[in-house]
Amino acid sequence: MSAAPKTNLAGLTKERIESFFVGLGAKAFHGRNVLKWIHKHGITDFAAMTDVPKALRDTLDTCATIELPHIALAQPARDGTTKWVLQLADGQHIETVHIPDGDRHTICVSSQVGCALNCSFCSTAQQGFNRNLDVAEIIGQVWLATREIGRTPTNVVMMGMGEPLANFDNVVAAMDLMQEDLAYMISKSRVTISTSGVVPALRRLAEVSDVSLAVSLHAPDNALRDQLVPINRKYPLEELIGACREYVARDHRRKVTWEYVMLDGVNDSIAHAKAMIRLLQGVPSKVNLIPFNPFPGTRYRTSPPDTIEAFRQRLRRAGIISITRKTRGDDIDAACGQLVGKVHDRSRRQLDRIPVVAETPR
Ligand code: SAH
Repeated sequence: MSAAPKTNLAGLTKERIESFFVGLGAKAFHGRNVLKWIHKHGITDFAAMTDVPKALRDTLDTCATIELPHIALAQPARDGTTKWVLQLADGQHIETVHIPDGDRHTICVSSQVGCALNCSFCSTAQQGFNRNLDVAEIIGQVWLATREIGRTPTNVVMMGMGEPLANFDNVVAAMDLMQEDLAYMISKSRVTISTSGVVPALRRLAEVSDVSLAVSLHAPDNALRDQLVPINRKYPLEELIGACREYVARDHRRKVTWEYVMLDGVNDSIAHAKAMIRLLQGVPSKVNLIPFNPFPGTRYRTSPPDTIEAFRQRLRRAGIISITRKTRGDDIDAACGQLVGKVHDRSRRQLDRIPVVAETPR
């Protein structure tokens, strides 16, 4: 007879770890202390948790574990960005990116192995969908980043591999831990979920979370968006815009960040900019224009800088704050839409040449 599987405490929110401890006949506050050891102090060994009574630690050894992903490969880019290829317990790989910018340390977190949404300009889509990440695998990316950079990240963006709203419960629990005072204590304005527009899930999110919202728009009309972001066929722009408007209406300081990839000759004309201005009328908005990051086999090219600037100026004249997102980490395929989550050929070659960050036992 095999023993019951151990509970991975790294994936439990404050409420869940409290009830787990109460279920063991222990006090809830011991659960909160363990949560702090894991996420505030980076400790994964029960023996090192000095304020947990010895008898309770012995019990934990029999029924609980603290499992986090491992770094298989660390790829530093010339601009200071680092991409970590993480290995999960079942041997799958995902990618996490650290983007330093002065005092700001942004971690770009993955939510799924692969992605099912098949956006035509995204390299993660090529890989297809494999599975959802569990809570420990999502928050584990923040845990590892904290250890590697030696401080708590200032910002987290759910903009890595996968569609976060398609892995709703696990992503919401992990974002709770990012915001939790006993864990990473990152404020709601600095935790951002990015979605391609899973409208029913976005409406549910409004009921349970207050993180910042970014939406992958990429086209100002349904005909073009149907091609670029196929989930638009299910949830067209009218529905998406309505749900976004409601999401930010709860707080008058809030805006939707619209991501818009600039594809040469596809969605980058002044006519597209004007259509976008009409579309976003009355929605508190800011726009991030993302120069397309090419990958092998793609049929798209990035718009010329002048075209991007003209587009941006047209939005600005209409009063829409817009910035052109700096492309970061493109020499290591860590830029938007370049995360493919496997140690591909190029990385394998680099395994020989660049420092591999081995798991350091704590
Ligand atoms: N699935 C979520 C989270 C991914 S966020 C979403 O769609 O929002 C990553 C952002 O980069 C999205 O806006 C995505 O559309 C964009 N992106 C994907 N491929 C890209 C590429 N090759 N170049 C630039 N941006 C890309």
